Amino acid sequence: MSRRAPDAAGAAAPKRPRIPYVPKVTQSALLRTLLRLKENNLLHTDASDRQLRRQIAASSDIDKIDTPYGQLMQAMDVGNAQFVDVVHPAASLFHLATVSAAFAGVMMACADAAGNDPLRLIIYADGLTPGNVFRPNSGRKLLAIANFPDYMLWRSACWPIFAVIRVSIISLVAAGTSGVMRRVLRYFIPAFARGVMITHGGRTVQVNVEFNGFLADLVEHKEISHCKGTSGARCCIDCPNVLRTGTRSEGDIGLECRDRSEFAQVDDALIWDIVDRLAGSITWHHL
Ligand SMILES: [Zn+2]
Repeated sequence: MSRRAPDAAGAAAPKRPRIPYVPKVTQSALLRTLLRLKENNLLHTDASDRQLRRQIAASSDIDKIDTPYGQLMQAMDVGNAQFVDVVHPAASLFHLATVSAAFAGVMMACADAAGNDPLRLIIYADGLTPGNVFRPNSGRKLLAIANFPDYMLWRSACWPIFAVIRVSIISLVAAGTSGVMRRVLRYFIPAFARGVMITHGGRTVQVNVEFNGFLADLVEHKEISHCKGTSGARCCIDCPNVLRTGTRSEGDIGLECRDRSEFAQVDDALIWDIVDRLAGSITWHHL
């Protein structure tokens, strides 16, 4: 690669506004950056310089942020006396909507579009890499609201983070990832019991949020459900009548089936029946 030669005609080109390089993101450096962006009309905010200063000071002390839903940062019991730091999901949505008018606007638009239905919450989970838990695209538990506009759903960086849990901690919990997830779901239900109050454009609404499922890759789905992978004869945990290999019984279908109505859906009764049958078939010899 050759270095680009200085353009002789460059002087005639229209000049872009210059934004000075900020060497470190300290509180004051961040404030300088934001003020400079604002000066150049690149930051769309109604906040005054003083309000920005206050917001940065407040947001840098994340441990102390309190909301009507409790502290933003909380310790969650994941089982076996293991506690991890989590971002309280309702407090997180409330706080983001408080510090960002844009986010509040998105939440309000989602609530308006959903009408009386709750917003659909998705938990995105991916495998954790010990020693590298902050890898950009992995190792995080993120939340998304399926009602978010596409430009936010397409960028996981826009999804609020719930927790980063190390594998070494998960391995100490009975049933591993699925044991942790059980606690996560039990944590979420009361967390969203009162919905989230969002104020935007002179209106305040209570946004209700309901868990709508996990988003994960195959391995993580297997971990979350703690039952099986896709390689078994029955390859789907949701569709009990899909048989990948082996002899089909009445009502079974194969992977070639394209008719959606043919796929059976697993229900609680079947799950409990499987649990009972497994419990009945386990002997001390197996343990
Ligand atoms: Zn299926």
